[in-house]
Amino acid sequence: MTEETQKPAGRQRRRREFQCHCCKSKLPFCWNCPCGFQICDACFQENKWGITNGPTWICPDCGQIRMME
Ligand SMILES: [Zn+2]
Ligand SMILES: [Zn+2]
Repeated sequence: MTEETQKPAGRQRRRREFQCHCCKSKLPFCWNCPCGFQICDACFQENKWGITNGPTWICPDCGQIRMME
C-alpha cells in the first residue's frame, strides 16, 4: 500500500510563465482569464479605466467578469 506524502514545498514542479497580451512581456504573474487572455499588472493599471470597476475586471477578449484578488 502506497501512501502519498504531502510535500511542503511542492510548488516548484510546475513553473508557469505568463505573457502579457498587451506588451508581450513574459512575467511570473499576469491577470488572466480562462479564455487565455493575460495582462500584466502594468498594462492592467494603464487600462484600468476600461476593464475594471472595483473588485472585478472584465476580460476584453471574452467579456467574462473576473474577480480581483
Ligand atoms: Zn503588459
Ligand atoms: Zn476571457
